[in-house]
Amino acid sequence: MDTSLNLQLTWQSVCGKMKSEYGEPVFDSWIKPLVVEKIKKGVLIVSAPSTFFRDWVSNNYRSKLLEFCKQADEEILSIDIVVSEEKNSSEIGVSKKGNAPQIKDNSSVDIDFGIPLDPKLTFENFVVGKPNEFAYAAAQRVAMSKNIAFNPLFLYGGVGLGKTHLMHAIAWSIKQQDPKKVIAYMSAEKFMYQFIKSVRFKDTMAFKEQFRAVDVLMIDDIQFICGKDSTQEEFFHTFNSLIDNNRQVIISADKSPSDLDDMEDRLTSRLGWGLVADIHPTTYELRLGILQTKAAGFSVNIPDKVLEFVAHKVTSNVRELEGALNRIVANAMFIGREITIDNARDVLSDLLRVSERKVTIDEIQKQVASHYLIKLSDMLSSKRTKQISTPRQVAMYLAKTLTTMSLPEIGKSFGGRDHTTILHAFRKIQSDIETDASLAEDVRLLTTILSK
Ligand code: ADP
Ligand code: MG
Repeated sequence: MDTSLNLQLTWQSVCGKMKSEYGEPVFDSWIKPLVVEKIKKGVLIVSAPSTFFRDWVSNNYRSKLLEFCKQADEEILSIDIVVSEEKNSSEIGVSKKGNAPQIKDNSSVDIDFGIPLDPKLTFENFVVGKPNEFAYAAAQRVAMSKNIAFNPLFLYGGVGLGKTHLMHAIAWSIKQQDPKKVIAYMSAEKFMYQFIKSVRFKDTMAFKEQFRAVDVLMIDDIQFICGKDSTQEEFFHTFNSLIDNNRQVIISADKSPSDLDDMEDRLTSRLGWGLVADIHPTTYELRLGILQTKAAGFSVNIPDKVLEFVAHKVTSNVRELEGALNRIVANAMFIGREITIDNARDVLSDLLRVSERKVTIDEIQKQVASHYLIKLSDMLSSKRTKQISTPRQVAMYLAKTLTTMSLPEIGKSFGGRDHTTILHAFRKIQSDIETDASLAEDVRLLTTILSK
């Protein structure tokens, strides 16, 4: 793992524990201003804003800091507090809290409840990229640490970006290391129904009892209980009692704790006390990586070009991306069609219709003509002066890149030209924009306008 990311995680864990150990005022005054610098040969170097500050922290908090550091990272042997060189040392993103560690009494009761874990949702099957690397690192940390480093771990992000996947992965990993650990994974919805049922059958004791034996509680999609007051109340008690007993709690949501509407303040603030990690929307690279990984699991061969096409076109989330790939493969296997971009476009037509830019050749020609101050009729004419031919070629280039029309179709729309003319124009502009900055700027601008 990236060392700075690792260090950041360690420090977040330490800060969280310091906060619950000493309370928020002390934390804000003495710990928050510290800046973690680096680890060098087992020594964690932290800088303080002044000499006085350094001495105060050294005398009062150093041993606790070291204790928590060791818990978060076994490689840390000592801690060195230095005076920062810059006078105004900036705060690093470590203001989240965690919880005090104690020796955990390991429950040996082997009764998992909630829903069964999906064997496909493991760390090995999770493709890591920029948008999810922090959440992935945090999840791994929670899964691997012997002590409770962050409590709760709060994962959030949009639909289909891998929150449930990471939760299952943590559960698998913990189970693998210690099969006796009792893990309860359930959606917030299920939590609510169980709770309501227990109230109806006057059996809330049993409901509460089941959580007592749990080592790790995972509640997925907590946003579901927003606005559901009594469920929130119950969840809050369950949550607090688990945290107080040093059980790991992992929560997911579609928003950050502070953005959860209709959630009690004391609950949202408490949810943010551990580590909050978000998963960002996918990038092209991550989508392609995921497609390549999933494609390798199929017995049919899927050309790279098709994977690239899907990664370009299906941008909403990973769930849709997987669905798209499955459809392409199913179509190839059951109908026996070869996997090509054209077939893929066909199979995914309903999916693509929403994401496809619906720009027409007409719009492209008009926009380009007005951009270069030429007449629309010149665009379609056979005039060959550079003043006319460059805009025309730009329009052809844009027609090729922004629409799904074929070369002959585009040729027809440009006064019945041959498809080789279009191809030539496309290649010429493509290579000219490499060297001609003003042309590149024209193309970029027109693309932006036309894609709106
Ligand atoms: P969420 O819970 O955030 O709505 P899920 O965890 O259910 O999303 O993910 C949706 C689908 O996408 C699942 O099948 C999951 O395995 C897959 N998925 C999401 N992110 C990744 C990833 N980074 N690598 C591999 N598969 C992923
Ligand atoms: Mg989910």
